[in-house]
Amino acid sequence: MQPTASHFINGRYVEDTTGEAIEVIYPATGEVIAQVHAATPAVIEQALASAEAAQREWAKRSGTERGRVLRRAADIIRERNRELSILETYDTGKALQETLYADATSGADALEYFGGLAGALTGEHIQLGADFAYTKRMPLGVCVGIGAWNYPTQIACWKGAPALACGNAMIFKPSETTPLCALKVAAILVEAGLPAGLYNVVQGMGAVGSALVEDPRVAKVSLTGSVPTGKKVYAAAAAQMKHATMELGGKSPLIIFNDADVENAVSGAMLANMYSTGQVCSNGTRVFVQKGVKDAFLERFAERCAAIKLGDPLDEETHLGPMVSEAQMDIVLSYIAKGKAEGATLVCGGEQLERDGFYVAPTVFADVTDGMSIAKEEIFGPVMAVLDFEDEDEVIARANDTPYGLSAGIFTNDITRAHRVVDQLEAGTCWINTYNLAPVEVPFGGVKASGVGRENAKAAIEHYSEIKSVYVGMTPVDSAY
Ligand code: NAD
Repeated sequence: MQPTASHFINGRYVEDTTGEAIEVIYPATGEVIAQVHAATPAVIEQALASAEAAQREWAKRSGTERGRVLRRAADIIRERNRELSILETYDTGKALQETLYADATSGADALEYFGGLAGALTGEHIQLGADFAYTKRMPLGVCVGIGAWNYPTQIACWKGAPALACGNAMIFKPSETTPLCALKVAAILVEAGLPAGLYNVVQGMGAVGSALVEDPRVAKVSLTGSVPTGKKVYAAAAAQMKHATMELGGKSPLIIFNDADVENAVSGAMLANMYSTGQVCSNGTRVFVQKGVKDAFLERFAERCAAIKLGDPLDEETHLGPMVSEAQMDIVLSYIAKGKAEGATLVCGGEQLERDGFYVAPTVFADVTDGMSIAKEEIFGPVMAVLDFEDEDEVIARANDTPYGLSAGIFTNDITRAHRVVDQLEAGTCWINTYNLAPVEVPFGGVKASGVGRENAKAAIEHYSEIKSVYVGMTPVDSAY
């Protein structure tokens, strides 16, 4: 099931063992299950040269032809969903119950969606009296994708599908923590008929990502990662005036009003905090609960937390697996310690599980105040902070009082309140009476420090192509001199 070498370049697996070794650790046991090597300068050069050459030919194909390849890849991914989901579980530790539904399938959705859109990418005609102009949608060239570790298959596809649909080549560098899944995506694309060199995968730490971003042959970079990395990558791209999409972190608010359906709000807060063991960028981790429903909400949330089955992620009965790595577990435990020390009330969880692997119990803190570390900083684990509020204007101001702006959610049965509040929330994606759904048809991305650009939907086309305007003179040039 495992990929057979570290990199995938020019249509085949490539190995170069002189690159720094990176161990792949199964988070549920802590065992080393594979080893890859970081790309050497020679490997990076192969990836760039083959991508550049392949892109020139790919751009000449019709959109329909390009789209056909992507849609075939989507079909293959769906046929192999179970195998790919198991690999995703080994790479990340996320429960198979989730990966079977949310990872390879989401990648296939992106390939299918952008495969369908590829043939419909057009410019426009602009009549100018006797003259006219037209616009063409041009590919950017070689694009670089850099991934985070929480959704390795999905991120590889969310970046690759629109890039390829628009006539670009993609070089993807997965997170060093989860290097396996993107290699399978690359191999499947070639099996589906993608010409060699158009989707290359190279492994490595930040230095490999940085070398790719700084190469003058690269026209665009799309990063999914943390804000500090985003600032570095965005600055490096800007220094050469490259296109950039930054999908970064968040500390998103989820607001529950007194008039909400409490059971539904609890379900939303579960998805907003516990899904993928809390390792989702858009998580609504600052849960503002209006005072009238606080007790009912907390009681029901704690009951449902107690029913969460934490354990072997390959057992399909398991709801939640471990954290992705020991380092991430330690970060989460340090925030739990800060929550306790800074005076929040621990409602449930709050500790590491006594078993192999990197398990943290689903944790809820109540009576959290805006200044506490767990209310201000992204934790990226199964830790929910519940804050009280009295009225609408107050909660909107507090919800927006953060440098981040990835997502926000609200639960209310008052339809006018729902839209009034959403209009004022500073976030790229808002949910009303649900949370964390991100279908490919809907643009996804952040405002403020959470990023620039959008992934998915027709909006992504703007970030993987650029417009060329062509003015056509139909009469002799009217020159005064
Ligand atoms: P990270 O920023 O540590 O790493 C992200 C990627 O960037 C990795 O592949 C890493 O090797 C690479 N990288 C690091 N330094 C680099 C440099 N100088 N130049 C080029 N590449 C470099 O993030 P992570 O720990 O892998 O992921 C967690 C973060 O990602 C969280 O903040 C989370 O919120 C965010 N995230 C955002 C989204 C989104 O769509 N907005 C989705 C998932 C995760």
